[in-house]
Amino acid sequence: MFKRERSAFSSNAASVSPFESLDRNPVEFVEDGKLTRRTFIKGVGWITVVSALGGAVAGCAPKADEELEPSESAQAASDATEYSYACCSYNCTSRCLLKGHVRDGKLVAVEPGEMPGRPDYANACLRAMSYIERIQNEDLRVMYPMKRIGERGSGEFERISWDQAIDEIAERMEESKSKYGSTACSFYSFTGNQSKLAMQSATRFAACYGGTTWDIEGIMGDHGASMGMKMVYGVIRGAHDTRDYEENSNMIVIWGRNLADTHTSELRYIVRARERGAKIVYIDPRFSSTATIADQWIPIKPGGDSALALGMINWIIQNDLHDKEFLSKHSCGSLLVRDDDGTYLRGEGDAYMVWDVVQGKAMPADTEGVEAPIEGSFEVDGVACKPAFVHLREAAAEYTLERTSELTGVPVGVIETFAQEYIEAKPAGIRMGQGMQRTFNSYQSFRTVATLAAVAGYVGVRGGGASHAGGTKANKPVPGETAPEFNYDEWAETGQKANMVKSSLIYQCAVNHDPVPIDFIWFNVSNFLNQSPDAHRIIDEVFPNISTIVVADPWWTWTAKYADYVLPATSLWEYWDLYDRAPWVFLVKPAIDPLGESKSDCEMMTMLAERVGLEEYWPKTPEEWVRSWPNPESSAFEGFDFDEAVKVGMWGMPTGIYDEPLIVFEDQVYQTPTGRFEFYTESMVEFDEQVPKHTPALEASDSELAAKYPLMHLTYHDRMNVHTQHCDNPSLDVVQTEPLFHINPIDAEPRGIKHGDTIRIFNDRGEVKMKAFVTEGIMPGVTAAQAGWTPEHTVEGNHQFLSHLTLSPAEEHYSQTNSAFNDIMVEVEKA
Ligand code: SF4
Repeated sequence: MFKRERSAFSSNAASVSPFESLDRNPVEFVEDGKLTRRTFIKGVGWITVVSALGGAVAGCAPKADEELEPSESAQAASDATEYSYACCSYNCTSRCLLKGHVRDGKLVAVEPGEMPGRPDYANACLRAMSYIERIQNEDLRVMYPMKRIGERGSGEFERISWDQAIDEIAERMEESKSKYGSTACSFYSFTGNQSKLAMQSATRFAACYGGTTWDIEGIMGDHGASMGMKMVYGVIRGAHDTRDYEENSNMIVIWGRNLADTHTSELRYIVRARERGAKIVYIDPRFSSTATIADQWIPIKPGGDSALALGMINWIIQNDLHDKEFLSKHSCGSLLVRDDDGTYLRGEGDAYMVWDVVQGKAMPADTEGVEAPIEGSFEVDGVACKPAFVHLREAAAEYTLERTSELTGVPVGVIETFAQEYIEAKPAGIRMGQGMQRTFNSYQSFRTVATLAAVAGYVGVRGGGASHAGGTKANKPVPGETAPEFNYDEWAETGQKANMVKSSLIYQCAVNHDPVPIDFIWFNVSNFLNQSPDAHRIIDEVFPNISTIVVADPWWTWTAKYADYVLPATSLWEYWDLYDRAPWVFLVKPAIDPLGESKSDCEMMTMLAERVGLEEYWPKTPEEWVRSWPNPESSAFEGFDFDEAVKVGMWGMPTGIYDEPLIVFEDQVYQTPTGRFEFYTESMVEFDEQVPKHTPALEASDSELAAKYPLMHLTYHDRMNVHTQHCDNPSLDVVQTEPLFHINPIDAEPRGIKHGDTIRIFNDRGEVKMKAFVTEGIMPGVTAAQAGWTPEHTVEGNHQFLSHLTLSPAEEHYSQTNSAFNDIMVEVEKA
């Protein structure tokens, strides 16, 4: 258990120069022996930590610049430089404004762009700053439309013209349509680029065509949070602005969220909160970059999060420290639940009911002045009822400190002290992350941790909350205004609707045609194969059942190698686009000419629409679409001049709130069915999951499997990649050139594994070979590897050969299964 003396770390990780690490080459990094804090910071911090503190560091510059004399070059460079802006709209959650330096038609440097109204918030990481080298490398890009000539996966393609590519693709779509109907043609746009045209063009086309699209979060493992948060808050995020923690939190719990590497724009506020005196607690099986700025690291077994939260809830209730007033007034805690069927008791007009202790009878919950208990047992018209809180208390009572310790691997004393410090912090804020949501039934983790905050009375409170991701929509409503901020009507007019299917069902759609036959897939902004579970299943079963696979991408991804057609897509520096991130609007115009024959997703769909008779829905160029969207009638665009705004890449809405963080749920209004914070979910009664409970890890709880494959394995996002996007980024080779397999010495030594050894990681589904990184920064019994790296970077194979897609009946019932990438068991041996 890492617990740092505060005085020993007054100069925090962020004060280390990013360039100190330049004396470390990748080999040293691999062979470095045991992890030390200094080593760790030097090895991992420099990509993100400076940007996380808001520093503005220029990106890489090309050789041509280095050859110039400094003073003359500076002047010449300054005279010849033009500036252009892009939105870094990868799914890393920061969404930074990038300011590009353009000389002679080339991007030569990138720095953080200024965010209107928030001078403290400029941000960019070195991934994006150095990415321009990869973007402008013709050897790494898909340069022309390509048609497969060898076996799928062989990588054998021939160059063809755009006309031939689009003609043939349209023809094959029509063949699939005539065989199975238009829904057999599907368009899979995920989060590889979340700007509007990049992300929506293909799915908009699907709607025009009557094709199928995919409800994205499930298969990519991002849906557990959305389900859990929606259950309790009624919205899928419910996040505090991180500035709130800086000012108001006495404790900040960062729970499974490596924000130092993955949400870099927010780290500065956490660091400042700590400097102000807030205690930072970091919960993760892994000592990530974020752990380096924490006061306490609590290693936890993957999937143990709901158990830890329940153990804390139980301890708080047993010590009578729960916030009864909040639970009665603002949560479902006082709402009566029928003993006979577990549904909420309803009164006249379907009103939720509470017990009125003064009148001794049930009353509608919204009756003014009723003091409703959260404990007790009552009878209403012959129906026995209890307040919902009783169900929570009874469920939590099973999680004694000892049992919680068994389920989580966290010592009893640590759980107890943490629970006490949390409840006494008044307030403590929790920021949850992706690490919590890649286990089976992970919605439980999110609803349970949020319920912990509710039991403590921290929801809707400054400095409190239990947030996933970060930030709240920050626009002031303007009284009486009816004009929408954006003119999206024409874009929304598609003639037909797409057939949206849960992405958790995509494999069975291809293989069993259930619930819809899929015969054609167009992948864009997605490296599907690298980001989806059980890659052998995809290669051996799913893809062979699809007659046409199209990949539109700037890069030769792993998925592209299995495509029948690969189309060159523009990068984020080469297209027109818009990204709405209230109170800002990013306006992106091309900084450089598209490499080769690259086209934007919108241009491709416009061409395809012409071939299949849908051109009436695609009358505009990408630039015309973007120009048409800001609505001058809305006060959010008062004084707006498109050409001026696009010069700085950004419009700050005059209706925006910039100077103070909004506190989500401060009004105690929730969009749940009960209108309250809702830890009792009526629709989950049939699964006996109506209140938070711990669902054991799927594979670890199978004793036979665990005996054969004793190590729990997880994949994580880190400093090198936002998913697969930054692989092959030559400037980052100085940090790392291949994924590393983290294993504790306690697990490595009996297997004869040493730091830097090539090892084989395997289970019944497949195997991957990587170099070992022996470190105490991962808890014993758990192993970890960085996600995102593709098969070209491992010694052999890919981490997705180990993962599985197992449908969860409870999640399918509520919404859709969230891929349990961190719920797998493996064994390891020297290769
Ligand atoms: S990758 Fe993330 S942190 Fe880095 S510049 Fe892009 S949005 Fe910002």
